[in-house]
Amino acid sequence: MPSLPVLVLNSGSSSIKFSVYEAGDGERNKLFEGAVDGIGTDLGKFWIKDATGKRLVDQTPALPTRAVAFELVAKALNSEEFPTPAAIGHRMVCGGPTVLENQRITPELIDEMERYTAFAPLHTPIAVYIMREAARLFPGVPNFVCLDSYFHRTMPEVATHMPIPEEYSAMGVRRFGAHGISYESIVYQLQPNVPEKLIVAHLGNGASISAIRKGKCIDTSMGLTPTGGLISGTRTGDIDPGVLVFILHKIAEKTTSAVEAANQLEIGANKKSGLLGVSGVSNDMRDLREAIKAGNAKARLAVDKFTWTIAKWIGSFVAELGGLDMLVFTGGIGENDIDSRAEICAGLGALGIVLDAKRNNVRGPAVISAEDSPVTVRVIPPAEDLMIVNHVVRLMGE
Ligand code: AMP
Repeated sequence: MPSLPVLVLNSGSSSIKFSVYEAGDGERNKLFEGAVDGIGTDLGKFWIKDATGKRLVDQTPALPTRAVAFELVAKALNSEEFPTPAAIGHRMVCGGPTVLENQRITPELIDEMERYTAFAPLHTPIAVYIMREAARLFPGVPNFVCLDSYFHRTMPEVATHMPIPEEYSAMGVRRFGAHGISYESIVYQLQPNVPEKLIVAHLGNGASISAIRKGKCIDTSMGLTPTGGLISGTRTGDIDPGVLVFILHKIAEKTTSAVEAANQLEIGANKKSGLLGVSGVSNDMRDLREAIKAGNAKARLAVDKFTWTIAKWIGSFVAELGGLDMLVFTGGIGENDIDSRAEICAGLGALGIVLDAKRNNVRGPAVISAEDSPVTVRVIPPAEDLMIVNHVVRLMGE
């Protein structure tokens, strides 16, 4: 395949990140990257920088809607300064039970994935919106979907099946996992020496952890939705389902609309819980570390719950893998929060996980385990856009 510009679009609930790669046979050059951030606010950020880091666009526009935000991106990328994309790759958290493979996007495929918005309620609405808009604003350019759930498709049925009646399973309810493109990129970066027994902890505003054997996922913490698994910035993580039933009954005492009650519960579980809910301070680890320094006991409890939960998952994954060769931290917290890594690993010596305090005192890629630690512990930033480009190039060649 000749070198072609491939645009990668990665949307979050209040941001759209993008990058343009020049990609051909074995060639991957990042030309530009950028983002619109702060959708829904008067003071958003819109920037584009080139491969050398030079800012080509640096604006603070009002971003009242995602439509305004994406038009800005499309207009800029359609201008003469930038090469017209030959293909577009979209990150999608979960396409539902019938869309498990990365593939070319059609209007019918978007409709099908949209039926399962509830499986990633913070991510799917903006992702499908951008898929439709990209088809309109870049006419004739092929679009491809890259699913986070794709990496987790190798999980055995014992991991994917939920302990629920068949009638619920028939609705598509099962464990899909998320952050799959990040996990895939860690395995990719470890090639050709991918350890047989690997655990990767993707700790960002959303947090999850995966057990990977010989490069293939065997288990992951997130479930049907990104609300499950580890406690995240604003999400509960795994929780006794009786809690949700109890709260739903409480909400139902004040509203007669079942939809309204479900929406309230969804906001409670997805946007008001997790580190934010426990601390009452923030969902952001940097704020929580500041609050802890200032003696805030609730911030301390929130972070303790976070690190304690992750240590428990690591223990269960070591049991599942039958041992461990390598533990990798990634994501904003995994890459940058030295204290979280130290606190998670503090009690894991019995599993062969021993950090070196000096080596751990680092932000960015590094080996942070002690020289004689049976398990190697590393920090590796994810390379999600590169993985999406790889999939787009493969799919264009099919
Ligand atoms: P992400 O969702 O991967 O962008 O990660 C966001 C999380 O990473 C937030 O909780 C941030 O507070 C955290 N984070 C980013 N930079 C740092 C840092 N230098 N120290 C501690 N936490 C950080």
